[in-house]
Amino acid sequence: MHNTKKEKISSVKGMNDILPPASAGWEWLEAKVRDLMARYAYRNIRTPIVENTALFVRGLGEVTDIVEKEMYSFEDRLNGELLTLRPESTAGVVRAVTEHSLLYDGGKRLYYMGPMFRHERPQRGRYRQFHQIGAEALGFPGAEVDAELILLANALWKELGLENIRLELNTLGQPAERKAHRAALIQYFEQHLESLDDDAKRRLHSNPLRILDSKNPAMQGLIEGAPRLRDYLDAESLAHFELVTAILDANGVAWQFNARLVRGLDYYNRTVFEFVTDDLGSQGTICGGGRYDYLIEEIGGKPAPAVGWAMGVERVFELLNLKSQAFPMPAPDAYAVLPDAHLIPAATVVLEALRRAGVQVQMHTPGSASDGMGSMKSQLRRADASGARHAIIFGADEFARGACVIKSLRDGTGAQSEQPLADAGIWAVSLILSATS
Ligand code: ATP
Ligand code: MG
Repeated sequence: MHNTKKEKISSVKGMNDILPPASAGWEWLEAKVRDLMARYAYRNIRTPIVENTALFVRGLGEVTDIVEKEMYSFEDRLNGELLTLRPESTAGVVRAVTEHSLLYDGGKRLYYMGPMFRHERPQRGRYRQFHQIGAEALGFPGAEVDAELILLANALWKELGLENIRLELNTLGQPAERKAHRAALIQYFEQHLESLDDDAKRRLHSNPLRILDSKNPAMQGLIEGAPRLRDYLDAESLAHFELVTAILDANGVAWQFNARLVRGLDYYNRTVFEFVTDDLGSQGTICGGGRYDYLIEEIGGKPAPAVGWAMGVERVFELLNLKSQAFPMPAPDAYAVLPDAHLIPAATVVLEALRRAGVQVQMHTPGSASDGMGSMKSQLRRADASGARHAIIFGADEFARGACVIKSLRDGTGAQSEQPLADAGIWAVSLILSATS
C-alpha cells in the first residue's frame, strides 16, 4: 500500500470529449444524415485519419492556412514516413477514389462523417479536433450536381430544424478566366497607382485579388470600379452558373451572390458556396464547398470533375443548442425494479426476452456492493429519474404467481397491470407502442 496520488491526465487542449447525454444528440444527427444521404443516393466512404503529408500539401495548396500552420504532422518513428492527421477529408476521398479506380464505371456520390484536426487557437466554434460531415460527387461535370449538393445541405438544415442560415454563392470561373481577370486587375490598379495604399501596392503583383478585400475606406471607390471576374467568364462558365441558380430558384432556395467568396483552399473552380449564420458570431460558416475539377488530376488521378461540401458539426450543435428541445434526450422504455436480489437471475431472462423484442430496458443496479438492491421506493425513484415510461417490478408475490407488474411512470396515472413472465415477447409491444403516445 502506498499513498502517492497520481497526477491527473487531462484531454489535449482544443480536443473535446462528447459525453452522454450530449452524445445522444450526435447519434440523432448522424441518423438524420444517413437517412438523408440515402434519399439522395450518396454512399458512405471511410478513409484513414492519418494520410501522407504530401497528400494535403498537394491537395490543399502550399500557401493555404491549413498547410502553412494548422496541420498536425509528424514523422513515423519506425520508418520515417511523413504523416499528417487529416485536417479535412476531400483530399483523402479523392486519393481513395483514385487509388481504387472508383470512377471507372461512372461518377460516384459519396459522404463521410468524422474527426478532423487543425492546430488553431481554440475558441467557440473552433477546436483542434472537430468533426465534419461532407458530401462529394466525383466524376460529374454538370451544374445540376452542384445544385443537388446545395439542395442536400439545405434539406439537412430543414431536417434538423435549423433556421437563419443563408446561402452565399459565387463562381470562380475556370483557371484561364481567372488568369485573364487577374491580368486585367493588375493593369487597372497600375493605372491608379497613386490611389493605392501600401498594402495594396505590396499585393499588386503577388495577390491582386486580395486588394479587393481591403477595408480601407479611401480605396472603396477604386475597388468598386475594378474589373469583375464575371465579365471574364466564357459562355460555358456563365451557363454553368445560371443552371445552378435556376435549380435553386425553382426550388425556392434563397441565395446571395457574393463576389468576394473565394474559400480558403486553392483547388476550387466555378461554383463555390457557403452556408452562413449570424447567430454564432465570427465562427458563422457552418458549411462550405464548391467544384474542384482539377484536384483529382493534382493528386495523380485521371482527370475527372468533382464537387462537394463539408460542414462543421460542432457549429451545427452550437446552433441547435440555441433552441430548446432541439433533439430528444434518450430514455429507456422500461426500468426493471428488483427488490429481491435472489430473483435477479430469473428476472434477467425476462429482460432479455424484452430486449430481443426491441424494448429498451435498464436494469436497476446498486452503486456499491455493500448497498444491496435498495428499497422498492428508492428503486422507483431511480426508475423515475431514468426517464423510463414504465417500471417493471419483479415483486416476490407476483413472481410466485409467474407474473410481474408494469407501472406507468409518465402518464400521470401511475396505473399498474400484471403481465406473465413467460410471454414477455408478446406484451413487449405494449411497452414500445406507448412510447409514441
Ligand atoms: P473558417 O474560415 O471558419 O476557418 P474554413 O474555411 O477553414 O473555416 P473549411 O475548411 O471550409 O473551413 O471546413 C468546412 C467547415 O468545417 C467550416 O465551415 C466550419 O464549419 C468547420 N470548421 C473548420 N475548421 C474548424 C475548427 N477548427 N473547429 C470547428 N469547426 C471547424
Ligand atoms: Mg480555417
